[in-house]
Amino acid sequence: MRSNTLPEDVLYILNTLNQGGYEAYIVGGCVRDTILNTTPKDWDITTSAQPEETKKLFSHTFDTGIQHGTVTVVLNHTNYEVTTYRVEGNYEDCRHPSSVSFTNNLREDLLRRDFTMNAIAYHPKNGYQDPFRGMEDIQRKTIRGVGEAALRFQEDALRMLRCVRFAAQLGFSVENETYQALCENKERIQKISVERIHDEMEKLWLCQYDEKMSLLWESGLLKAIDPLLSARIVERGNAFLPQLRNLPKDPILRWTMVLQDYSPQEAKTFLKKFKFDNDSLKRICLLLENLAHELPTQGYPLRTLAGKLGVDAIQQLLLLQEILHPTSPFAETAQCLNEILTRGDCLTLKELAVDGQMLMELGIPKGKAIGNLLAALLNLVHQNPQWNQTQFLLEKAKDLM
Ligand code: ATP
Ligand code: MG
Repeated sequence: MRSNTLPEDVLYILNTLNQGGYEAYIVGGCVRDTILNTTPKDWDITTSAQPEETKKLFSHTFDTGIQHGTVTVVLNHTNYEVTTYRVEGNYEDCRHPSSVSFTNNLREDLLRRDFTMNAIAYHPKNGYQDPFRGMEDIQRKTIRGVGEAALRFQEDALRMLRCVRFAAQLGFSVENETYQALCENKERIQKISVERIHDEMEKLWLCQYDEKMSLLWESGLLKAIDPLLSARIVERGNAFLPQLRNLPKDPILRWTMVLQDYSPQEAKTFLKKFKFDNDSLKRICLLLENLAHELPTQGYPLRTLAGKLGVDAIQQLLLLQEILHPTSPFAETAQCLNEILTRGDCLTLKELAVDGQMLMELGIPKGKAIGNLLAALLNLVHQNPQWNQTQFLLEKAKDLM
């Protein structure tokens, strides 16, 4: 790597730490990504400086996980995580080290990392520090556990899911012994919190190399996470991955595709189990409930449905239908929706030319009657968007009363 591939800020952090008398390297995903010629999402720095010492050297920092040795350094509105060389004590429960201690030995810090490709450090003057030959594995496009893979998965079972996710993110293969270790230790994934499993699986569904996603069920790891999902995906056979691939990289769409044949109740149980937030849960359930129905191709019913579900949901349903029900008239629906949006047809009460206040001024009592009348007027406007005019609708309201 040429030092001019490192951003100025990163060079500044390395230099500042060095001038303070400490070792400092970039490490982990950013080194791996630069070797692969891709742009890292963020730059992580590992250093022999203790967190308190790091904080003294930079004017703007905040504590991120100081008990784990991480301090965030802010430079030019960008955050950089600077973490003290660290060793982890015994893992007693497949997820949390019983202790974390600092070390002044870079190799020990690299030893605690998950895969050889993530255990390389780099400094512009000292070059690569690569005691586990991660560079060779990157060149061979191979994911290999640092040291004994089985032990690494037993220490922290999330690494198994990370392993599959990295395979799909980078298009790498999993080295034999590492894959065997994953298959043998898959049940331990049950020790990991559902939130972390959810995050990691969501990242997986968004990965580029979808053909590698099948490692998740072929290894049995998915069965250990959720037997029903595993069974459903296996039933779908080869159809599933292309279905996923052809969707935009949107978590809601991808999860809906993953749960495509779930009943509403099954979906709810799954989404609750994995602690999806309420908004995502509602949106995914709404899509699943409407997935089986053909979408209308005529203005009136389509306006009514768009008013009920929202335009976003209709557009998402169109994307899903195109893939799942290619013989449905999704193209006509899309065309009709396009016209509706171009004209700016009224779809919801918000866009209706009258509101509750105006109806009350006509003498209609507050309460249910107003709601019913507004719904009736909206229905009229769905039938004929040109009727969305205040005077006209107030006249209609009087008739309807
Ligand atoms: P990306 O950001 O592209 O997902 P990354 O490699 O940067 O990949 P992070 O989760 O950001 O992944 O972690 C940064 C580094 O920390 C990793 O490269 C790895 O060295 C180490 N690391 C992260 N999680 C673990 C873990 N569960 N076990 C061991 N090492 C880990
Ligand atoms: Mg990262």
